[in-house]
Amino acid sequence: MDMRKLVDRLNRYAYEYYVLDAPTVSDAEYDKLYDELRAMERESGTVLFDSPTRRVGGEPIKAFRRHEHIARLYSLDKAVTEDELDAFFTRVEKVCKDPEYTVEYKFDGLTICLTYEGGKFVRAATRGNGTVGEDVTAQVLTIKSYPLSISYKGTLEVKGEAIIRLSVLEEYNKSASEPLKNARNAAAGAIRNLDPAVTAARRPEILFYDVNYMSEGELSSQEEAVAFLEREGFKTFRRMRLCKTPQEVKDAIAEIDVSRKKIDVLTDGAVIKVNDFSAREALGYTDKFPRWAIAFKFEAEEAVTQVKNVVWQVGRTGKLTPLAEVEPVELAGATVRKATLNNLGDIRRKDVKIGSKVLIRRSNEVIPEILAAVEHTGASVDIAAPETCPYCGSPIAEEGANLFCPNRACRPRVAAMLAHFASKGAMDIEGFSEMTACQLIDRLGVRHCSDLYFLDRKALSSLEGFGEKKVRNLLSAVEGSKNIPLDRFIFALGIGGIGKVASKDLAERFQSVEALASAAAETLVEMENIGEKTAENIVRWFADEENRAELSRLLSAGIRPYVKQARAGGPFSGESVVLTGTLSRFKRSEAQARIEELGGVCQSAVTSKTTLVIAGESAGSKLEKAKALGVKIVGEEEFIKILSENGIDIK
Ligand SMILES: [Zn+2]
Repeated sequence: MDMRKLVDRLNRYAYEYYVLDAPTVSDAEYDKLYDELRAMERESGTVLFDSPTRRVGGEPIKAFRRHEHIARLYSLDKAVTEDELDAFFTRVEKVCKDPEYTVEYKFDGLTICLTYEGGKFVRAATRGNGTVGEDVTAQVLTIKSYPLSISYKGTLEVKGEAIIRLSVLEEYNKSASEPLKNARNAAAGAIRNLDPAVTAARRPEILFYDVNYMSEGELSSQEEAVAFLEREGFKTFRRMRLCKTPQEVKDAIAEIDVSRKKIDVLTDGAVIKVNDFSAREALGYTDKFPRWAIAFKFEAEEAVTQVKNVVWQVGRTGKLTPLAEVEPVELAGATVRKATLNNLGDIRRKDVKIGSKVLIRRSNEVIPEILAAVEHTGASVDIAAPETCPYCGSPIAEEGANLFCPNRACRPRVAAMLAHFASKGAMDIEGFSEMTACQLIDRLGVRHCSDLYFLDRKALSSLEGFGEKKVRNLLSAVEGSKNIPLDRFIFALGIGGIGKVASKDLAERFQSVEALASAAAETLVEMENIGEKTAENIVRWFADEENRAELSRLLSAGIRPYVKQARAGGPFSGESVVLTGTLSRFKRSEAQARIEELGGVCQSAVTSKTTLVIAGESAGSKLEKAKALGVKIVGEEEFIKILSENGIDIK
């Protein structure tokens, strides 16, 4: 056999083995042919460019050379909550009509960029700062999950993640004098090692996912880019999902969240990209990130348990939420007994039944959620949708995936509405709980939030547990709530889809309830973070007769929503400030109030508009983002100093 044929054959075997995970020859047979090639090369003194013998890696190098990337390698903006994800969809859908998204695993390793010229592999570099990376060609040459020669003849840069499989890491650690802590560090350490022999010994792979640059020809979508990579012999992770709606994206993310535990590669999230490249062009970039992609990071803890029963709860909008009672299970330091299923559509989609084993996740303070059914038992039974409200017996209305009790006087609905109205971020009526709400409904016939401002002292005293002091405190808390920042009043109204952040935006934009009440949907949609559906909710809420009547009762009861006028020329005037981490001397809301008092505007997330970040203990991704964006950062001590210089002393 001639040398060319032998090299081709060995490369095909390697491709089947390393890229396709489907070897067609035994290791012994491969080794025999490989030795034959080595002998032939020694004898003739020639080594073909793409000979597998080049992949042993060569001598250790002294230092990494810098390499400037042809096209900048962007990192991705991150989302950790569904809200942040929704904000991404809203931004995209303002620019693109019916965008398609791809959803891929987000591998946790080291990003690598490979350059080809004239069909030949010429260089591998780390991402570095996106513009300049380190030349790791000698190290990457020892990896076999990509071709040395390709059919594309222009200049090409492809991007992938260097990873070490979890099983490979485990095996390595069994005999290593110094075990490697985790797969991410192991991958980075393997590639960024001056001795290619060390790289080879740790057996990293590269999984490719992007074409970063091509000098000739054009690709039109992510789908095409991945197909191109596969055609040219690069190893991709063949599990990319194509989604047509945000809901499909969320389902794909949930699916990845389940399946990632069964794969041999460390993943810490999912990457969502707009599929179509012309849509990407329309969306463009911020100074740091592409606007057409986002990385969703999983930060929560999960466990498997069994569903015992499902009850339907009526919320303040009348929406029925199925709540699963589960076998108690330990999760993130707490015993979980209940988990939400969101709605009927969710139950069907996740195929959850009573008796099913399910995967639940608990993140931050929210109630745990059921992500998926993992197994049905013989006794599993379908969860039936109620036809009438389990509390008031009204016939249920169906709206999309949701069920509603249409009865505005339905007891749990009124109780939830009152509790929300009085809650901390809303009117902040101290001492008012959902239990108080139930007593007021049952005993005093309270139906509306405005009724709280017309409570009778004597009637209150007749309630169980309402001593003189409690009555006095409640009445004065109610009275005190009349003077309220506009954004909190908007939040208190409980308009569907309007959280605290949107309330702040709306208050800032409209400056009064009256102006908000008469805002047209088109005006609302112009705001950065208000989508069509939310705009419609707002317009519909204010158009409703009963809501209007309630609003005017609230205002005539003496509620005076105000817009804070910041102190002009304060040290924070003109600053967009983000608080992150834990502050030891303040509650977050206090710190925010101080910043606003001194002229600053508080934001919840670091964006390109952020000008200052105040970072407390164990600040996380927001701080990193601020650093990446070059935003000014101050610590708690310096913050306190600024305050005291401006006459605000902190105990
Ligand atoms: Zn009801």
